Amino acid sequence: MILDKFKLDGKVAVVTGAGRGIGQAYAIGLAEAGADVALVDVIDQSETAGKIKALGRKVLTLSADLSKGEEEAPRIIAEVVKELGGVDILVNNAGIIKREPFTEHSAANWNLVLSINLSAPFFLSQQAAKQMIAQGRGGKIINIASMLSFQGGILVPGYAASKGGIKSLTMLMANELAKYNICCNAIAPGYIATENTRPIREDAARNKAILDRIPAGRWGTPEDLAALCVFLASPASDYMNGYTYACDGGWLAR
Ligand code: NAD
Repeated sequence: MILDKFKLDGKVAVVTGAGRGIGQAYAIGLAEAGADVALVDVIDQSETAGKIKALGRKVLTLSADLSKGEEEAPRIIAEVVKELGGVDILVNNAGIIKREPFTEHSAANWNLVLSINLSAPFFLSQQAAKQMIAQGRGGKIINIASMLSFQGGILVPGYAASKGGIKSLTMLMANELAKYNICCNAIAPGYIATENTRPIREDAARNKAILDRIPAGRWGTPEDLAALCVFLASPASDYMNGYTYACDGGWLAR
């Protein structure tokens, strides 16, 4: 039956940046669909972990600073395999944004954003893909893109470059990993109400300009994105590979 193809029973998912916001909604959505979930973050993850336990799923919390992705990725994947028995789904969600004009944009901000938003997904996906290949049962890797995978934005050069890079990296990964039945896709969220967007929501003029441009007429919520994550993590999307899917209330259509 069609709804059975969305089930994730027996799967192990890893979600980065799962302590709050969109990552929390992805982790809970995957658990509701049946997966055991490993959470990775620098902040406390007890709220997310409690909600997953309440669903009767196994949960593992790992504290890691993904600005050091090259060092942390092998440890993270090894811990997940040891504690949860394997890796079937990886969601590279952790991300930051630094707003500073292009001409003044500091090297520190540029390097930090690129390390968390682009390099960490590369290193984690590399480790996860090796594990998935060794397991021999395929897998799903979901990267998190942005409207700025398609548009330039303002004041956020590192963010725009990282999210453009994520879209390209996702295609490369799909090309190389499809032969192992590993699908790699990306979700491009529109304007979603989280901590990440609090500064622009609190700027009345920016907030109005954004709302006026969203055909749906409202900010998105993390829950708006969770169903797309479950779909891309499930057998229902087995023939979808290498694409970046917007979930944006119509923003890109405008
Ligand atoms: P958020 O700031 O609420 O959550 C980001 C999470 O990543 C947090 O839990 C944070 O602790 C974690 N994180 C940050 N730096 C980390 C590090 N060095 N190591 C480990 N974890 C770290 O943001 P969000 O809005 O939930 O964003 C989640 C993802 O969605 C990001 O990749 C973001 O770029 C993307 N996104 C968000 C929006 C939006 O409108 N909110 C739009 C497009 C894309």
